[in-house]
Amino acid sequence: MPLRCIDELPIERKKVLIRVDFNVPMEDGSIKDITRIKATMPTINYALQKKAKLILASHLGRPKGKVVPELSLRPISEVLSKLLGRKVILAPNCVGPEVQKLAQELREGEVLMLENLRFHPEEEKNDLQFAKALAELAEVYINDAFGAIHRNHASIVAITNFFEHVGCGFLLKKELDILDKIFSSAPRPFLLILGGAKVSDKMDIIKNLLDKVDAIAIGGAMSYTFIKALGGQVGSSPVEEDKIEEAREVLHKAGERGVKILLPLDHVAVREVKKEAEKEYFDNTTFPEGYKAVDIGPKTVEVFVKMISTAKTILWNGPMGIFEYEDFAQGTRAIAEAISRSEALTVVGGGDTLNAVNLWGLAERFTHLSTGGGALVEYLKGKSLPGLMALER
Ligand code: ADP
Ligand code: MG
Repeated sequence: MPLRCIDELPIERKKVLIRVDFNVPMEDGSIKDITRIKATMPTINYALQKKAKLILASHLGRPKGKVVPELSLRPISEVLSKLLGRKVILAPNCVGPEVQKLAQELREGEVLMLENLRFHPEEEKNDLQFAKALAELAEVYINDAFGAIHRNHASIVAITNFFEHVGCGFLLKKELDILDKIFSSAPRPFLLILGGAKVSDKMDIIKNLLDKVDAIAIGGAMSYTFIKALGGQVGSSPVEEDKIEEAREVLHKAGERGVKILLPLDHVAVREVKKEAEKEYFDNTTFPEGYKAVDIGPKTVEVFVKMISTAKTILWNGPMGIFEYEDFAQGTRAIAEAISRSEALTVVGGGDTLNAVNLWGLAERFTHLSTGGGALVEYLKGKSLPGLMALER
């Protein structure tokens, strides 16, 4: 079955369960960023226009199958209520007789939000009975949770067995369409920019995209393994020794295919990662032991920015340094700003990358800012997404 979207399904005046991703960053019980809630508004508003009886289901954080009051969806239901300008009823649970009654009594245009799905261990086990109990609340199932689409969980996968009509919401559709475009018809030159903590996390992205891109710029902690693979020095920076050989092979393959690989030429380094640490600048031949790289250096920024200015498609995932410290954020910020100035098709994603971009108020300045962290990375690695397969079954 081809993927169907909410506007192709008979939802009018029906009880519609929408699996949303309201897993927003929280701090001391309040919401730090509502991007993910806002991103789902087109789907919610559409369903309400169609006078659907709306049931929203989401997880929040990692309560590990137990009720954790701090991870209640109450604050989210309140924010949503403000955004919609109407009452959002918060259910005391996500399944059970009380919730069933609330769903039963819903009227057209009313919104019921289920309590955190992960308060039940069955959710993460893709449990059929639990999925059935959720499904019994509604007549049509919509998934709009791109950020959770890589999860083999009950509200994402098993639940689709119990509906005649299943489909995606507008957010999920948008995310998939843009990735599809990047994979099939990206304007060239296509520059992939990767950074972040671990080579092992991102190596498969490089391998999967090697045939699609013209150049790959690598920064952040993951770049040190590649520099080491080429015989360069990185002092006491983190290197994944067991990935050096693979890094060498990938560099070789890139060479064969004419894909240009840009690695940092210089680094900001410190003896100790802390606030107001004294910064030193080293290149790959002068980097002494006892120092750790924490950001790309100014020469590297210049080269990367130049590459950005000539690209027609840019896909960026992963910070260039430990941007969480203002002192070590310059490289990441310069790259983020250069991408935001570009006229190219720009797609940016990743949990920490998103935090960085939000920190500098650049969120609106890209063609597409993905709401998926892990889901995006899985997609870029070429892995199939269980939630998507379930919708297409
Ligand atoms: P994303 O969530 O966007 O996919 P990752 O989780 O892969 O990104 O990586 C983000 C993390 O990488 C950040 O917390 C950042 O501090 C860290 N990082 C980047 N560069 C370095 C570095 N040189 N040393 C240590 N950590 C780094
Ligand atoms: Mg991350």
